[in-house]
Amino acid sequence: MSVRVRFAPSPTGFVHIGSLRTALYNYLFARKNNGKYILRVEDTDQSRYVEGAIEGMLRSMEWAGVNHDEGVILNGEHLGQRGEFGPYIQSQRLDIYKQYIKILLENGYAYYCFCSKERLDEVREKQKAEGLTAGYDGHCRNLSKEEVEEKIRAGHPHVIRLRLPENKDIKFTDIVRGEVVMNTVDLDDQVLMKSDGFPTYHFAVVVDDHLMGITHVIRGEEWLPSTPKHVYLYEAFGWEAPQYVHLPNILNADRKKLSKRQGDVAVEDFLNKGYLPEGLVNYIALVGWSPEDNQEIFSMKELEESFSLERVSKSGGVFDVNKLNWVNGHY
Ligand code: GLU
Ligand code: ZN
Repeated sequence: MSVRVRFAPSPTGFVHIGSLRTALYNYLFARKNNGKYILRVEDTDQSRYVEGAIEGMLRSMEWAGVNHDEGVILNGEHLGQRGEFGPYIQSQRLDIYKQYIKILLENGYAYYCFCSKERLDEVREKQKAEGLTAGYDGHCRNLSKEEVEEKIRAGHPHVIRLRLPENKDIKFTDIVRGEVVMNTVDLDDQVLMKSDGFPTYHFAVVVDDHLMGITHVIRGEEWLPSTPKHVYLYEAFGWEAPQYVHLPNILNADRKKLSKRQGDVAVEDFLNKGYLPEGLVNYIALVGWSPEDNQEIFSMKELEESFSLERVSKSGGVFDVNKLNWVNGHY
């Protein structure tokens, strides 16, 4: 089976160097294994869309030399490498998600929910007051077909939720973390389709990773708690789930997650400060991955040859600007 990986940014602002590292590891893994590296824009949350973010992301990736194989068409223009397929922009794929949610509804894996925001807030407040974990209470799980049809006919706004089994262990193996098990009692009936007709990230990511033949999902560890829901969706569709690889965060010297308050974190900041793309890429590859020997200076070609997921570290890598400067000085 040939390796297909993807980088799937949401256009919500600048490109964090953590995102550059995620993209880079995907890219290197594809190159190393003669696979394909796909770029997909995840813009299903229209309220978080930032004008110009897609263009900025493409600029940063091009500067860094992390070029995708299958691409993006924006305003009629082909961006990136070959772009023989695509465009992979989720907001342009709404018909596809509609087609797939139908399958889940028909098979009982999803259901309509007509709860108002006020009702959901009330439920949450009540749960909190009782010391319970706040979550959806399953109010609309068992509406009859007639009730649903009537409400839809009357124009009631609604979402579509995943019907999770009530007490089921969901298991998967993460290449970095090992075995992960989570029970559905700790998970909510996730919204899959929103009232505006857009899918949520959780639904679109599964449909697209499947349709695009993704074999390895390499992404930040903040998505680890969501993965059981994704694994369950694969099961519901009867699809094989990809291999998961959750990358530990990049940390500050104080071992807190690297954030803008403590200095430069946007790829553009480094570009503007005159860092060389080779220097930044070389350094960032080593924050969270270690080569077999003690080599510290790598060309992109050498990284492509040496990279392996097995040597991605389990703990967060520390970002050290002095070390970056030292590496950058070699170019
Ligand atoms: N769109 C998600 C993000 O912005 C991608 C998560 C994933 O790779 O599945 O991080
Ligand atoms: Zn409901």
